[in-house]
Amino acid sequence: MRETLHIVGGGMAGSEAAWQAARAGIPVVIHEMRPKVGTFAHRTGNLAEMVCSNSFRSDDDERNAVGLLHWEMRAAGGLIMEMADHHRLPAGGALAVDRDPFSESVTERLRNHPLISVSDEEITELPTGGHWIIATGPLTSGTLAEAIRAETGAEALAFFDAIAPIVYAESIDMSVVWAQSRYDKGETEAEQKAYLNCPMTKADYEGFIDALLAADKTEFHEGETAGYFDGCLPIEVMAERGRETLRFGPMKPVGLTNAHRPDVKPYAVVQLRRDNALGTLYNIVGFQTKMKYGAQTDVFKRIPGLQDASFARLGGIHRNTFINSPTLLDAQMRLKSRPNIRFAGQITGVEGYVESAAMGLLSGRMAAAEILGRDLPAPGPETAMGALITHITGGAEAKTFQPMNVNFGLFPPIDAKGGRRGRKDRYKAYTDRAKASFNEWLDGQS
Ligand SMILES: Cc1cc2nc3c(=O)[nH]c(=O)nc-3n(C[C@H](O)[C@H](O)[C@H](O)COP(=O)(O)OP(=O)(O)OC[C@H]3O[C@@H](n4cnc5c(N)ncnc54)[C@H](O)[C@@H]3O)c2cc1C
Repeated sequence: MRETLHIVGGGMAGSEAAWQAARAGIPVVIHEMRPKVGTFAHRTGNLAEMVCSNSFRSDDDERNAVGLLHWEMRAAGGLIMEMADHHRLPAGGALAVDRDPFSESVTERLRNHPLISVSDEEITELPTGGHWIIATGPLTSGTLAEAIRAETGAEALAFFDAIAPIVYAESIDMSVVWAQSRYDKGETEAEQKAYLNCPMTKADYEGFIDALLAADKTEFHEGETAGYFDGCLPIEVMAERGRETLRFGPMKPVGLTNAHRPDVKPYAVVQLRRDNALGTLYNIVGFQTKMKYGAQTDVFKRIPGLQDASFARLGGIHRNTFINSPTLLDAQMRLKSRPNIRFAGQITGVEGYVESAAMGLLSGRMAAAEILGRDLPAPGPETAMGALITHITGGAEAKTFQPMNVNFGLFPPIDAKGGRRGRKDRYKAYTDRAKASFNEWLDGQS
């Protein structure tokens, strides 16, 4: 008899992990606390419930990173994608899903699988033996979160994200922006030039503050807010406290000399910091925000040097339990301090239904391979799944780690020139390369 895989949480990630492991012949128990214990966002006792929007976003597998992730999950026989396709609603190029029939079908398929059983219980401790995957998501129950915190340390577990917008490095205008750390701090040249600086005149700053104050904002969901004001104030809230607050906070112009115009002292400076080891992504430092997405692009493009910026992700603040994966997990998504436990889904610091299910798919396959005594390396970083797992298990900056959607900035760059048209061709080159690599990864397992 094969050893059992225990999965805590039957959401997007846990459901997909269970399916993948059972397909490999491994007995699985899913421990799901709903409907006995609820969350503020879930409404049902179904597995794989979609808590908010009913969209899996773009289904374009040729020129969109999340569409590519759909393609990879379909190629790997993913249950979440099969059921999403089955309950697809018309939505142009996006994959919208009829949410209740979708989660009912996932539940039925899992509950009827001969190797899968579902135990309706909340897990409150970290297990000491056996094979486990923790996939308890952004709303992990309080008792289990405490147990994780006791194991990993307070700094390594967050209860809110505070996401600053992330910009593709190639879209920053370097004829305006210059690289310099405040007071040239650092031992090496790389450290002394770790930040990109966008200079503002007084008129730029005043216009920016006006736009920030006027921008549309999103509200917290009911039950979401407790405890969020601990050190992650949105920039618009700082601006509401006084027009000069930002100039004495994240936008202070001190310790910096504009390399393009050394004689002109900037009135304010917006700083960007490298967000991944590849150097393809930069976050805007201290710019977590609850502005609506459309408003964010309008407001941030007012920043000199970012007038043509492309955003890999926009900012946000949400109730979101996640661990510092780059420091805590190994390349197999195992907790380094307790390798019998894997983490998967949104709690690992990916964000979104699709990304979470994809990390469930990988963790389920990796756990099954381990139980079968096989070695299963992650897919290459040029695939969408490989780019995500590489990012969370080491590619991301651990100190500033925040949840991430899949995007082409996470992939090893491909060189192609030629403006907007060139970018479209380049995305096609990314997805062609990814598909070939992903097929090889799958072939290696058959
Ligand atoms: C308010 C809100 C709105 C969101 N809106 C969107 C959106 O519009 N689009 C999008 O793509 N993503 C959205 N997300 C993120 C979304 O929740 C995730 O992308 C996705 O559901 C994560 O999948 P998961 O499997 O990691 O977690 P979940 O799908 O949340 O699954 C985790 C499961 O674990 C269970 N659980 C928790 N603790 C325990 C425990 N101790 N013992 C047993 N079971 C436990 C939960 O009941 C849940 O079923 C939203 C999140 C929140 C909180």
